[in-house]
Amino acid sequence: MKVTILGSGTCVPSLKRNASGYLLEADDKEVLIDCGSGILLQLERAGRSYRKIDALFLTHGHPDHFADLMPLLHALFYTPNFTREKDFSIIAPKGFEQYYNRAIGSIIGESKDFRILFMEVAHTMCYGPWNIRTAETEHSADSTAYRFELEGRSVVFSGDADYDSGIIELSEHADLLIADCSFPDAMKVKGHLSAKECGLLAMHAHVKKLVLSHIYPADIPDADRVKEAQTHFNGEIVLAEDLMEFRI
Ligand SMILES: [Zn+2]
Ligand SMILES: [Zn+2]
Repeated sequence: MKVTILGSGTCVPSLKRNASGYLLEADDKEVLIDCGSGILLQLERAGRSYRKIDALFLTHGHPDHFADLMPLLHALFYTPNFTREKDFSIIAPKGFEQYYNRAIGSIIGESKDFRILFMEVAHTMCYGPWNIRTAETEHSADSTAYRFELEGRSVVFSGDADYDSGIIELSEHADLLIADCSFPDAMKVKGHLSAKECGLLAMHAHVKKLVLSHIYPADIPDADRVKEAQTHFNGEIVLAEDLMEFRI
């Protein structure tokens, strides 16, 4: 498996950190985990193509996690000399399909060449080569974390999440945990993990590698979050940067 960080940022505009999005690849499948504003361009910067994306796994319905879905589909519909033939799947929490039909589908319509398929998040799912488990997170009414497993390897995307037992359980012994590290400890906000809590989560879940992502701008350098997380977790900790890649 390979993970590319397309956006390690948030809703706050930043030239350094795009809004949230990750590319996950295995075998011949390429899926996005979230698709915040700018992700379409980040795919180009990463030397990848929106044309190949098979599916979007949405963690929740906040705009910093899905705002580029409409531009992505628009591009798939209207790129000259390109005909999309494979289905595009949208795996999302309950209620998103209705929102899509109202706010996105009603504007861009349907393609005559490919289908857009919706799948509602379930506790366990299969997609492509992956076995997938999910957990509700403490953030919004629909917020979901995903764990993708393939041939004994695993990666967890926390989405936006606060500290709770569900995310610890989902992350157990994961090879890679990409965690919401919105704020350093001194700026802790309910509904998001702080850096220390990311370390605590990684320690209790015995993960192999912790990636701190979804970084809001703060008064202290971003790198200090690694030190804060290290107070609990003595495994490898990486501060996410856009276009970083991980092989699992
Ligand atoms: Zn967010
Ligand atoms: Zn959110």
